[in-house]
Amino acid sequence: MQAVILGSGVPFPDPERAGASTLVRTSAGDLLFDCGRAVLMRAAAVGASAAALRAVFLTHLHSDHITDFNDVITTRWIMSLQPNPLPVVGPSGTATLVEATEAMLEPDIRYRITHHDDLTWPPSAEVTECEHGTVLADGVVTVTAAPTDHAPVRPTVGYRVDDGDASVVIAGDTVPCPGLDELCAGADMLVHTVIRRDLLEPLNVPRLNDVFDYHSTVEDAAQTAARGGVGTLVLTHLVPAPRPEAEQEWSDRARAHFDGTVVVARDLVTLDVGA
Ligand SMILES: [Zn+2]
Ligand SMILES: [Zn+2]
Repeated sequence: MQAVILGSGVPFPDPERAGASTLVRTSAGDLLFDCGRAVLMRAAAVGASAAALRAVFLTHLHSDHITDFNDVITTRWIMSLQPNPLPVVGPSGTATLVEATEAMLEPDIRYRITHHDDLTWPPSAEVTECEHGTVLADGVVTVTAAPTDHAPVRPTVGYRVDDGDASVVIAGDTVPCPGLDELCAGADMLVHTVIRRDLLEPLNVPRLNDVFDYHSTVEDAAQTAARGGVGTLVLTHLVPAPRPEAEQEWSDRARAHFDGTVVVARDLVTLDVGA
């Protein structure tokens, strides 16, 4: 199993960092976690396509995690030669998001069905709303959801993918919480969104100060990884995004609380899970 950080960025546009998205390549196919800005451009760089995705999983419905969901729906539809419903898993509200996305795309769907003789069906999705429990079981691959804490954004979920003996957790945006601890227990890898409060606080920007109470700091994420006995901690969705020369400082802060391997994500970093 491999984890590919497709987008390590945040709402601030950054030419080096696409929006939040992680691809997990399993023996049951490619699983996409969140669909931030430019997700399919980054997916194309590693030979992954919307048409071939086994399923899409949403951690929550914040815009920076779903901006390009409509692109995944549309591209899968127009690049498939037969109906190819997209399995979409997410917290409560996901079905409404899918319906609204399809409604927004209605003119495009109508134009293309009218124009292409061999395209006679609209895009479709198979939605599963779940906040706790098994959300996919396919051969030796299972995906488990558990509630996270990104209040006042509710509900939010994290996911754990088990492929044989290998396991990776996608935390999404959250503060430390029991649901995430449950997913992390004994996992090989934890992909966790993080902020640096020590860098943001001195800026004294009210809208930035608001993010402190619903995101994990690097230290929080490291402590979560340590509690779970995780092998590798991947820091992503980095606020503020570090320059390459500052990455060491980010990983040093994590290592002060966590003995395993620390990776400061850049877009397209590809990691073997459980190897
Ligand atoms: Zn969020
Ligand atoms: Zn976010």
